[in-house]
Amino acid sequence: MTTDAGAPSATEVERESMEFDVVIVGAGPAGLAAAIRLKQQADAAGEELNVVVLEKGSEVGAHILSGAVIDPVGLDALIPDWREQGAPLTTEVKRDKFLVLGPAGELSLPNFMMPPLMNNHGNYIGSLGDVTRWLGEQAEALGVEVYPGFAASEVLYDKDGVVYGVATGDMGVGRDGEPKDTYTPGMELHGKYVLFAEGARGSLTKGLIRRFELDKDSEPQKFGIGIKEVWEVAPDKHQPGLVQHTFGWPLDSRTGGGSFLYHYGDNLVAVGFVVHLNYANPYLSPYDEFQRYKTHPAIAPTFEGGKRIAYGARAITEGGWQSLPKLVFPGGALLGCAAGMVNVPRIKGSHNAILSGIAAADAALEAIRAGRSGDELTTYEQEVRTGKIGWDLKLVRNVKPLWSKFGTYVGIALGGLDMWANQILYGIGFGYTLKHGKPDYAATGKASSYKPIDYPKPDGKLTFDKLTSVSFSATNHEEHQPVHLQLKDPAIPILVNLPEYAEPAQRYCPAGVYEVVEGDDGKPRFQINAQNCVHCKTCDIKDPSQNINWVCPEGGGGPNYTGM
Ligand SMILES: Cc1cc2nc3c(=O)[nH]c(=O)nc-3n(C[C@H](O)[C@H](O)[C@H](O)COP(=O)(O)OP(=O)(O)OC[C@H]3O[C@@H](n4cnc5c(N)ncnc54)[C@H](O)[C@@H]3O)c2cc1C
Ligand code: SF4
Repeated sequence: MTTDAGAPSATEVERESMEFDVVIVGAGPAGLAAAIRLKQQADAAGEELNVVVLEKGSEVGAHILSGAVIDPVGLDALIPDWREQGAPLTTEVKRDKFLVLGPAGELSLPNFMMPPLMNNHGNYIGSLGDVTRWLGEQAEALGVEVYPGFAASEVLYDKDGVVYGVATGDMGVGRDGEPKDTYTPGMELHGKYVLFAEGARGSLTKGLIRRFELDKDSEPQKFGIGIKEVWEVAPDKHQPGLVQHTFGWPLDSRTGGGSFLYHYGDNLVAVGFVVHLNYANPYLSPYDEFQRYKTHPAIAPTFEGGKRIAYGARAITEGGWQSLPKLVFPGGALLGCAAGMVNVPRIKGSHNAILSGIAAADAALEAIRAGRSGDELTTYEQEVRTGKIGWDLKLVRNVKPLWSKFGTYVGIALGGLDMWANQILYGIGFGYTLKHGKPDYAATGKASSYKPIDYPKPDGKLTFDKLTSVSFSATNHEEHQPVHLQLKDPAIPILVNLPEYAEPAQRYCPAGVYEVVEGDDGKPRFQINAQNCVHCKTCDIKDPSQNINWVCPEGGGGPNYTGM
């Protein structure tokens, strides 16, 4: 047996193991949809099927961060009576607004210019974290074993290289890697198939992609960082059902990204900002761009008299159709955003995550019924590529590359034209699929080519400093454990990243984890405040030297999001 260690192990110990039919890593929309579908189908046929879901958050939903405007196509397929069953999605979209922001003004884009696929009519606004919690309850009611607080930290391979399970991380390991009094070894979970639904930049998924060369025929995956706050606004500012997106200021036209602002529930507004991680200026701080965006005269009034109640950040996949890796390998499959199924111009991926969970469940059940195990679930891959998910991603496949190549204004105009063509011409459009080119870290420019950006100081009312914000994510980690942000070479931050890129980790991390401080010897020292990490995975993606390896900390650590 060999393993891909995703986390430091205290010592070689005998671990207990449990046998299941299907093991699922990650209780997000993709993983829970797979679990629910498996049990629904097995129950309907009167079959016994053991399904387990591992979740690294302290509870289901604790690590979920999304917009979210949700296309119900996935839920409709999974639980057709979700409305009657009390799913926490009650605000229907009433109005779509698209604004182009300049430093002092804004231009509203008429809705008729937007391709029909951009229309949010029929979609719902809510918290994907809350929806996920509800899905967790549905899964448990069907008999799925859901284990929050348990991070899968190793993939288990048999002698032929077939994936036959995962192991949870050891608990009670000291910072030095030595077992403490509280040491409990991890547990092995074996399954006929293992479905990886870790979301964007999954830590085990990364190793699987490398080991099975799943991305050898696809473009590099692309990402954005999404930073979000939830506000309780004054009742006279609340416009339930309003969905507003902006692009332009405060980003320059060479930097991709934009904002979302959704009114829902009881005087709630979800406001967030996405910066595409292929940005070049190493002095850029996505967090500070977001804070600055809120001060725009078209945006700030929404928050007058309101209060911020939550904060968080998460990477979002942006590569779409051409970056989809091969989805299957012996013994398992990648689901949802572990593979990257976000429709970028719609900023939606949860519907595809659920649809992929359904498709993977159907393929796994078909295989198990046929007495198979440990092989490739090829019907899952076919369904994703030729079914609704593939169609959704194909229609918008050129938007992100056009934006990256031609900048915000020309790129978005060309992207709009391309979407129209695809929508009218059955996905064929102008007949081409553009490439993304470099991975995001390689797009980072040298500090010598840019000037530091002077961001305004936070006012504590509308704009906030990073550490105050992190306290609104309820992040908590056991302090005495190995640092889960592993540096392949500890010297690189100061020897390479600082002189060449002004060590951008200080700015791209939305939780203030990375600092360059003065050491006792008066020289700069790289400091990692790992306990603040909100598990967004940006450092793993954007570090220009690819020197940071994000691995799962002890299960249960990380943010404790509610309503994100
Ligand atoms: C800022 C932002 C805005 C967005 N807006 C929208 C929107 O408006 N509408 C929309 O439809 N989509 C939106 N998306 C995209 C959407 O959130 C994702 O497509 C969706 O969450 C993907 O679902 P998933 O189940 O694949 O992964 P996730 O939702 O990321 O869930 C993965 C789960 O796996 C767990 N996990 C990861 N690794 C491990 C491990 N090793 N062991 C145990 N557990 C693990 C995580 O803790 C998490 O709970 C947005 C995303 C972002 C970041
Ligand atoms: S340390 Fe990395 S994963 Fe954690 S919050 Fe910072 S950028 Fe995100």
